[in-house]
Amino acid sequence: MFCQNCGAEINDNAVICVKCGCIVKKHVNMDSTTYILLAVFLGAFGAHNFYIGNKNTGTIQLLLSVLSCFILALPVNIWAIIEACSNAKNLE
Ligand SMILES: [Zn+2]
Repeated sequence: MFCQNCGAEINDNAVICVKCGCIVKKHVNMDSTTYILLAVFLGAFGAHNFYIGNKNTGTIQLLLSVLSCFILALPVNIWAIIEACSNAKNLE
């Protein structure tokens, strides 16, 4: 199948587009409210990305926060919220 966002060809079982990082398929147990709440409260740890299976971005956000001794936690959290808001519509 192809990503609706960037048009890249992706695996039929993929949940996240590897090229642009957007959600291409809703997981059965995925809930956009949980996803946004995770981004708001635990976004600096990438929790919302781990929730939807986007481990790469989640790991980057987690490492940025922890390795900067949480100096970057606030910007990462803002990034997480913006990311969650733009992705949440794909979960519904
Ligand atoms: Zn894409």
